[in-house]
Amino acid sequence: MNMLTEGRPTKQDENLAVPDQGALKTHTGNRALMVDEPLIFETGSPDRSGVDLPEAPSVESRLGGLDRDEPISIPGLSEAEMVRHYTRLSRQNYAIDVGLFPLGSCTMKHNPRLNEKMARLKGFSDIHPLQPVDSVQGALGLIDELATWLKTLTGMPAVAMSPKAGAHGELCGILAIRSALEARGDAREVILVPESAHGTNPATAAFAGYKVEDIPANADGRVDLDALKARLGPDVAGVMITNPNTCGLFEPDMKAISDAVHDAGGLVYCDGANFNAIVGRVRPGDLGIDAMHINLHKTFSTPHGGGGPGSGPVVFSEALAPFAPLPFVEKTEDGHFHLVEEETAEDHHESSFGRMVAFHGQMGMFTRALTYMLSHGADGLKQVSEDAVLNANYVLRSLEDVLDAPFAKSGPCMHEALFSDNGFTNGLTTLDLAKGLIDEGYHPMTMYFPLVVHGAMLVEPTETESRAAIDQFIGALRSVAERAKAGDELLKSAPHFAPRRRLDETQAARKPILVWQEPEEYAEAAE
Ligand SMILES: *Cc1c(COP(=O)(O)O)cnc(C)c1O
Repeated sequence: MNMLTEGRPTKQDENLAVPDQGALKTHTGNRALMVDEPLIFETGSPDRSGVDLPEAPSVESRLGGLDRDEPISIPGLSEAEMVRHYTRLSRQNYAIDVGLFPLGSCTMKHNPRLNEKMARLKGFSDIHPLQPVDSVQGALGLIDELATWLKTLTGMPAVAMSPKAGAHGELCGILAIRSALEARGDAREVILVPESAHGTNPATAAFAGYKVEDIPANADGRVDLDALKARLGPDVAGVMITNPNTCGLFEPDMKAISDAVHDAGGLVYCDGANFNAIVGRVRPGDLGIDAMHINLHKTFSTPHGGGGPGSGPVVFSEALAPFAPLPFVEKTEDGHFHLVEEETAEDHHESSFGRMVAFHGQMGMFTRALTYMLSHGADGLKQVSEDAVLNANYVLRSLEDVLDAPFAKSGPCMHEALFSDNGFTNGLTTLDLAKGLIDEGYHPMTMYFPLVVHGAMLVEPTETESRAAIDQFIGALRSVAERAKAGDELLKSAPHFAPRRRLDETQAARKPILVWQEPEEYAEAAE
C-alpha cells in the first residue's frame, strides 16, 4: 500500500468491501448525496411553466401558413427545479476544476482565471465579425500580437490564425502543401504517417484526397528513419509527424527526416499538439518543418471544447507562406490594422488556397492564449515545458516498478508517461484498470492510444499539478495497478461508486439513442 493511502480507509478495505449490487440498491436510486437524476423530459411537463406570462395578444400571422399547429412541448419546471437539475448534472461531471485530469496527448492544464477575466472584457467579447475594422483595432492588434508570439516561439515566418481546432489546423496545413505542389505542377498522391500518429493525421490526409501509408516505428518508439528514407520518392507529397510523438518521446532525427523529405521533393507537416513539452526550448522552424498546428486549447491554457470553439493556428515556412488561407491581419505603416480578405500580389498572398472559415477569429481563445503568454513571459513559457517534462518523468519513474513502461529504458520521456497492460492477470485489461481509477476519484488516463503499445495507458500530468497532487494520483494508480496484477476480480465490475456503473459501450456506439423517447420506445430501440 502507498504511503499516502496508508492509515486512511480505502475502498478496498475489508469493512468497506464492495457490497453486491442488490445491497447497494436504494429505494430512490440515489447514492450518498448524489441524486439519480432523471431527464428533464421526465420531471418537467409541457403544461407547467416556471413563469407567469400574460396571454399573448392575437396578431395576424405573417408566417404564410408555416405556423406551428401543435404546442412546442418544452417541459416546464420551476426555477428551483431547473437550477437543481443542471447543478446536479454538473456534479456528476469530472472537470479540470475538480481534480487532476491525466489524459495523455490532451494537455489538460489548469486554465488561469485571469484568462477568463480578460476574455470577458467588452472590447473583446462584444464584437462582431462584420463590424467596421476601425471599430475593432484593439481586437485586431491582439490577434497580431498573438501571431507574433506564435511565430517567435516556433521560429516560423507566417501563421494562419483562423483554424478552429487541431484537426482543422491539420487540414489547413495539408491543403497548403497540396496547393504548393500543384503550383509547381507536381501534384503527388501519398502522405506518409507514422504508426503511432493520432487518428486525425491519417484522417486529414485522406480527407484532402491523399493515399495514406504507414511509416514503421523502431524499437525505441521513434520513426524508423531508414524505412522512411527507403519509401520516399516522386509520388510522396509529404509526411505528417508528431514531435514530441504520441509515445511521449522526442524525435531526435527530426531534422534528418525533414532534410530527406525535402531532398525527395516533399513537404513536412508537424502535428504540434504536443508543443507543451518543448515550448520555449525548441523552435520547430529550426527542424525544417513547413507547417505545424498549435492547439491553443492545449499548450496555451484555453478551455477544451465546452468553452466554445477551440483554436488551432498553423505556422508556415517560407515555402508555404504564400499558400496560407485568408483572411490575415496586417499592420499598415501608420500603425493601423486591417484584414487582408483577398489574394493580392502586394501582400504576398497571391497564391492563397482560399478560406478555412468565413470569419477571422476565435476571439475568446485568442484573448486567453495571449493573456497566458504575457503573464508567463518568454522565460516562464520555457519553465512551463521544463516542469511539464519533470512531472511526467516523476510519474514514469514512480510507477515503472508496478506498471510496464515499454520505452522507459531508452531514457527520459517528454510530457507524458506511457505504460502497457503487460503483467495484468486473470484476464484484466487496461479498461478494467481505468474503471477502477474512477472509484479512486480520478478521470482515467488516455487508453489504447498510441496503437503501437498493447493496452496503452498514456498519462500527462502537465506542469500545473503540484507535487502533492501528483503523489496522490500516483498512490491511486499504484493501488489499482497492484490489483490488476494480482487479478482482483472486483475490478471487472468497476466502477462501483460512480453515479453510473459500466455502460454497454458497443451498444452505445452502434445504436445510439440521440433524442428523448418514451421509455417503452427505448426498449424497442434497444432490441
Ligand atoms: C489533440 C490532438 C489532435 C487534435 O486536436 P483537436 O483540437 O482535438 O482537433 C491532433 N493530434 C494530436 C497528437 C493531439 O493530441
